[in-house]
Amino acid sequence: MELKTILILGGGIGGQAAANMLASHSAGRYRIILVDQQRDFVFAPSLVWMIVGQRAPDDIQRPLEALLRTGVEFVQAETLRIDPVKKTVETSAGPMNFDHLIISLGADLAPEKVPGFQETALNLYTLEGSSRIQKSLEDFSGRKIAILIASSPFKCPAAPYEAAFMIQDFLSRRGKPVELSVFTPEPYPMPTAGQKVGEALKALLESKGIRFHPDHKVTRIEPAGNRMVFANGKSETCDLLIGVPPHQAPNAVKDSGLVNEAGWIPVDRGTLATKYAGIYAIGDVTTIPLAGAKALPKAGIFAHHQAEVAAANILARLDGRAPGARFDGNGWCAVEMGGGSAAFGSGDFYAEGGPQIELRTPAPSWHWGKVLFEKWWLSPFGLRREALRLALKLGAAAKGIPF
Ligand SMILES: Cc1cc2nc3c(=O)[nH]c(=O)nc-3n(C[C@H](O)[C@H](O)[C@H](O)COP(=O)(O)OP(=O)(O)OC[C@H]3O[C@@H](n4cnc5c(N)ncnc54)[C@H](O)[C@@H]3O)c2cc1C
Repeated sequence: MELKTILILGGGIGGQAAANMLASHSAGRYRIILVDQQRDFVFAPSLVWMIVGQRAPDDIQRPLEALLRTGVEFVQAETLRIDPVKKTVETSAGPMNFDHLIISLGADLAPEKVPGFQETALNLYTLEGSSRIQKSLEDFSGRKIAILIASSPFKCPAAPYEAAFMIQDFLSRRGKPVELSVFTPEPYPMPTAGQKVGEALKALLESKGIRFHPDHKVTRIEPAGNRMVFANGKSETCDLLIGVPPHQAPNAVKDSGLVNEAGWIPVDRGTLATKYAGIYAIGDVTTIPLAGAKALPKAGIFAHHQAEVAAANILARLDGRAPGARFDGNGWCAVEMGGGSAAFGSGDFYAEGGPQIELRTPAPSWHWGKVLFEKWWLSPFGLRREALRLALKLGAAAKGIPF
């Protein structure tokens, strides 16, 4: 008898977590196929360390296949089109049929949406861009550095601020004080985490001498002096421009009938089910509205936990049980500050009156927690990974953090 097929599109944070959980619980009863266009996986949270030379590219990327459990078939191919009715996916390696599908294709970067971005800004959100930032900071002899957030939503609302803290720390240790500024269309940092967290983060920026420019939506960048022109009529120049490009939903889901007007996939916020039976979407490719007209941030912590929920519910259906797993909207994130210290935000994004998030004071333990998490994620699947998982669980339990 032919085995039922569970197809996973995208082998980033969400795709890996889903595939590995399915493989560990299915004991060969189902066929688990993961499709990704890349051979190597880059652990994006480590890019903020890479820009100041604390990681090399090889430290933070691994062949994707090495991170997958035995029992997951990896196919390196591009997903071209999804037909949710016929239950087929067109890929560059040919058509694939599925019984159950998890879409975890992330968000695409679209620097071309801001005229001048590609020619002037160094892209914080790619391995190549972060490598170039690292080289530029090594030789930096200018005065003004700008970090520009082009538009919302973007992955990991904390990342541009982490980059600012890391750069400020790196250059001040080298005796090179600079004028470092963050420009963003947002009213305060990380608005999805609420105003209290935003104000706390703003105070941390100010305490380090980093200038914060809210309500600055860039319309174009002119090459001479890296001049950023904003919708509010202002413009600014700098010697080094570091950018977070606009994000957009991946092309592969565009004509699938699964998406909203903006191209993202709406899902049930508890089960991650789409409107088509047997098809789930997780992570950055989804959109989940929150109280207060906000949306769940795009972050690996959510992709990870949502993957486990979607996988558990697929297994339940296949095994003839009622699917009872639910994603509860809880999440956490270390905010790297430089100097081996990090702040820590955690809380309930599904809280009724809007996200209830707390930002804890910077401490070395949050930094080391993130280092341990990085090591765990990038360990080859097997004993070493399991041992690190146990250590992380024990550490989190001691601090009262759900893991
Ligand atoms: C600088 C930076 C720092 C970050 N720090 C943190 C942090 O500290 N904490 C946190 O929680 N999150 C962080 N994030 C965000 C986190 O990396 C993402 O939210 C997370 O990776 C989302 O997981 P995902 O599975 O939805 O998508 P991804 O991990 O992006 O995976 C998508 C996968 O789909 C593949 N793909 C896309 N299109 C196709 C196609 N057409 N065909 C085949 N394959 C395709 C891609 O190659 C990719 O492997 C950070 C991100 C950045 C950029």
